[in-house]
Amino acid sequence: MHDRKRVLVTGGAGFLGSFLCERLIRDGHDVLCVDNYFTGSRENVQHLLDDPHFELVRHDVTFPLYVEVDEIFNLACPASPVHYQFDPVQTVKTNVHGAINMLGLAKRTGARIFQASTSEVYGDPDIHPQPELYRGSVNPIGPRACYDEGKRCAETLFFDYHRQYGVDIRVARIFNTYGPRMHPNDGRVVSNFIVQALQDQPITIFGDGTQTRSFCYVEDLIEGFVRLMGAPRGVTGPINLGNPSEFEVRELAELVIALTGSRSEIVYRPLPTDDPTRRKPDIGRAREELGWEPTISLRDGLEKTIIYFDWKLSERRVSPPA
Ligand code: NAD
Ligand code: UDP
Ligand code: UDP
Repeated sequence: MHDRKRVLVTGGAGFLGSFLCERLIRDGHDVLCVDNYFTGSRENVQHLLDDPHFELVRHDVTFPLYVEVDEIFNLACPASPVHYQFDPVQTVKTNVHGAINMLGLAKRTGARIFQASTSEVYGDPDIHPQPELYRGSVNPIGPRACYDEGKRCAETLFFDYHRQYGVDIRVARIFNTYGPRMHPNDGRVVSNFIVQALQDQPITIFGDGTQTRSFCYVEDLIEGFVRLMGAPRGVTGPINLGNPSEFEVRELAELVIALTGSRSEIVYRPLPTDDPTRRKPDIGRAREELGWEPTISLRDGLEKTIIYFDWKLSERRVSPPA
């Protein structure tokens, strides 16, 4: 018999959340999507609204939520520096109070709970690539701290609820992920470069562009989420999920220009404070414990993402590409 679960996805109307809701419905579950629409939108889940197995609720996770569910994916939190620095206090509250409320809910209902943590818990790392045992190099009082330290505190809460109350937790440390349905003004590097390239506007490289990131395509990442949530009891993480292929930001700019055939020039802007210089996941644990690794190359993923933004930027009001 199929094991249909009632699954809560917080931040479900955001970029990653919308793909996760879609995947969970495809896998035969009932999805309750909760979002305050700070960076997400109904439009991201428009195609799911008529599905009887999908329910959308406007709610802010910093307030308590009483629902009956079997599993919780806690994704609610702005992910782009531009957005999480817009209201840093609210970012900390979302990370900390949001985690407490969702853990309280998991404790009461006995639901398994997944936390979307981040590679930012490693800060500006002094070891490379970053394994889960690395404890990070984070500035607790800088402009990124509301996010980095908020996520670190959320991890602490997850492990304390696990040790103290036996809550069944899954903590994923997500590295830079991109794909369709990122907001055109999201501010993260992949969406910025594609939007700029498609409009033949200058491509803004922060710093000299030699800083590195490792970019994972959204569908690969969601497969990792599902595997971590489905892993046997006791697999708590933290577990790195990301693509270990590392690129310099300037290489990304060149690839986007080549794939879009853009006439954009490259311009250089100051590097933001505390911007990490290198980032690449060690995914040994994910390979071993989940049998997971990314399958989609940056070139292939960028092509799919460019098709989406090309549609999004055009005035045509037709269905988004599949
Ligand atoms: P996103 O901004 O597109 O989605 C976040 C969603 O959370 C949005 O729909 C937003 O409206 C919602 N939200 C924010 N505050 C909320 C609150 N207080 N109550 C209810 N909903 C709230 O970002 P994303 O890329 O989809 O990221 C999803 C999660 O994954 C975040 O927790 C983020 O920290 C984490 N993450 C993402 C990446 C990445 O590269 N995309 C990397 C590391 C971690
Ligand atoms: N909570 C919630 N939904 C629930 C159960 C709890 O939102 O179904 C919230 C509740 O508001 C509380 C938080 O989760 O503030 C932490 O719950 P916990 O049981 O750990 O703490 P307590 O209620 O004892 O403060
Ligand atoms: N970046 C850039 N131009 C942009 C946006 C970002 O050069 O228009 C750089 C940014 O300084 C960082 C990298 O790209 O070094 C990744 O930035 P993003 O905001 O996507 O993610 P994060 O810094 O959180 O990894």
